[in-house]
Amino acid sequence: MHDLGPDLLGALHGERAFIGPEHVVVDLTNRCNTNCIACWTYSPLLRDKAAPVTWKRQELPGAVARRLVDDLAVIGTRRVRFTGGGEPLLHPDFHELVRRIKDRGMTAQVTTNLIGGDADRLLATGIDEITVSLWASNASTYTRTHPNQGPASFPRIQRTIEQLAAAPRRPRLTFANVLGRINFHELEQMYDFAAAVRADAVYFTLVDPVEGRTEGLMLTPEERLATLGAVRRVLERADGPGMPALDSAGELMGRLAGEGAANGFYDAGRVDELPCTIGWTFARVLAGGDVVPCCRAVKLALGNLNERTFPEIWFSRAYDAFRAKALTTKKSDPYFREIDCYRMCDNLMHNRQFDARVGALGASGLAALRARLDTYMATAAAATARSESRDKEATA
Ligand code: SF4
Repeated sequence: MHDLGPDLLGALHGERAFIGPEHVVVDLTNRCNTNCIACWTYSPLLRDKAAPVTWKRQELPGAVARRLVDDLAVIGTRRVRFTGGGEPLLHPDFHELVRRIKDRGMTAQVTTNLIGGDADRLLATGIDEITVSLWASNASTYTRTHPNQGPASFPRIQRTIEQLAAAPRRPRLTFANVLGRINFHELEQMYDFAAAVRADAVYFTLVDPVEGRTEGLMLTPEERLATLGAVRRVLERADGPGMPALDSAGELMGRLAGEGAANGFYDAGRVDELPCTIGWTFARVLAGGDVVPCCRAVKLALGNLNERTFPEIWFSRAYDAFRAKALTTKKSDPYFREIDCYRMCDNLMHNRQFDARVGALGASGLAALRARLDTYMATAAAATARSESRDKEATA
């Protein structure tokens, strides 16, 4: 049986979408209670390049977020993740919104620093996955990577994690760690910490620097080599029973070994290896209401939820234009200048998964997909003709 999903159908068409994105990430708020050292907006190293106060105050109104969740359920979205901008738990409606996602049959996920997290309240929502942004394996490194946090923060977060892990219906727990010069030497200890508190998975990525401000956090060639060795050692253990998975290890190793890593262009040479199909599978909503087509595309708003609904934006001509461009154009094209795909494509794994589905179709699957698309387009054209004819009769 071939996978003839409507998203594959869309990519074959080359422009149109026939179903909503499977996965949507939503920046509920740009407010944050910490200042991660490599953060693009709150790092103390940014000085005059820090995000303006007006941006930091942006928050998706509760009513807009509720309508978004309802709309996503209708158009076939399966996973909604609340993430940054800022810290999602600071949004006053966070817990209610998670319950709403669950009530509508979708998977609810959050990426959080867990600084203000209450395990009981989180568990009561029925949330499916919590990704904890940690960047450390102990209190000392934690305060260095989160300079506004004192020594009590890490043990408090650890207690919350342990409460979550001990729950009978526990959410999937993933730790996200950004590696830079301050913490790279602790990679194996971070993995050990995750194993000790029974996390399900660990994800490592590299500092994505802000020019002239956070480049000093980037790893030297020797440090990248040492990190590569540590990743390989962790990978040998990650298959063991009860051990956390190492998520996206292939992408991490590719970035550590790639020639572009020296100047922060981690994915140069990798992004163009496969078509970008993100326009059929994923979308990001910013706290100001802008809908953008991938994690990095914060300056490419295709519509705003304060003016139009998500389905209106997703099925619009502007979104179609992005899909067609991203599918067929090299990312050196000026259209992608503001996205800067070659630095680090945070959605590369989504494009790889899609590409693998297409590859698995084979010649017979592709033919079946083509036939299904032809039937669909013929039916849609007939429906449009009927509707136009009815309109003409009504105005005659
Ligand atoms: S960063 Fe570029 S290649 Fe990656 S998903 Fe966005 S548009 Fe596509």
